[in-house]
Amino acid sequence: MTPYVADPVYLDGRFLPLAEARISPLDRGFLFGDGVYEVIPVYSRRPFRLEQHLARLQATLDGVRLVNPLPLGAWREIIDRLIAAAPWNDQSIYLQVTRGADDKRDQAFPAATLPATVLAFASPLITADSEVRERGVSAITVPDLRWGRCDLKVVSLVANVLARQQAADAACAESIFLRAGWLTEGSASNIFIVKAGVLLAPPKDALILPGVTYDVVLELAAARGVPCDLRPVSEAELRAADEVWMTSSTKEVLPITRLDGMAVGTGFPGPLGRAMGDWYQEYKQNVMRQG
Ligand code: PMP
Repeated sequence: MTPYVADPVYLDGRFLPLAEARISPLDRGFLFGDGVYEVIPVYSRRPFRLEQHLARLQATLDGVRLVNPLPLGAWREIIDRLIAAAPWNDQSIYLQVTRGADDKRDQAFPAATLPATVLAFASPLITADSEVRERGVSAITVPDLRWGRCDLKVVSLVANVLARQQAADAACAESIFLRAGWLTEGSASNIFIVKAGVLLAPPKDALILPGVTYDVVLELAAARGVPCDLRPVSEAELRAADEVWMTSSTKEVLPITRLDGMAVGTGFPGPLGRAMGDWYQEYKQNVMRQG
């Protein structure tokens, strides 16, 4: 069986087999979900948009008042070494930093001298296959019960976990969050809609994660002259959309063709979603060719 995590993993300055990696039960990531993470796709052993992912990691660390334990160069070296050691050409690199393992359970920050816990590992990149892409996927809507800083990529993900399980229970690929009648995002993706040829998405604010793929999609749309409007999207607009897509580093651009059991638009992936999927693949190839 293909392992999900490659050996070695990186933990607190060492590269070691996953089976030997140990974290204290007093780690604040374990006790409080007091930590941050990042997921970076790797194509043909090249990290995609690494700079942007490391910038988002820094923004999240700043947002939770955690000092970045490593300089940029050290992150790059760890990532390069994990990529080189993993058996797959296309990978997903997972990074996590927690506020460390204290000697007591106290919510207030530990002494500034306590080292952060740093974990990183490589997994195979699992993207949707072409058949799924052709058909599109199903999603449900759920109330957005998360906190008010969804722009931070923190490991306290229980609200996302519950939402994602609701989707799994309904044999759906994603849950789409609605907050007081407005679209925010998916449990692990950003959401775009298309109405009358215009690409619409909620703007980047504290209620959505600033997706790296979201930015790529908007850049591609601008380059191809697709009209875009970043503004609040209502539940009614979501339900009446011609097309709905989910975007993320691992799912890329994936059409959602059924929402709460109803067909989205024609019930098949729409023309703009198909085009965006192709532009995204083309862009990825170009970036990899350039190195
Ligand atoms: N929103 C949420 C809640 C996510 O977990 C993700 C996946 N990281 C995204 C959006 C998409 O972000 P990205 O395109 O950077 O993967």
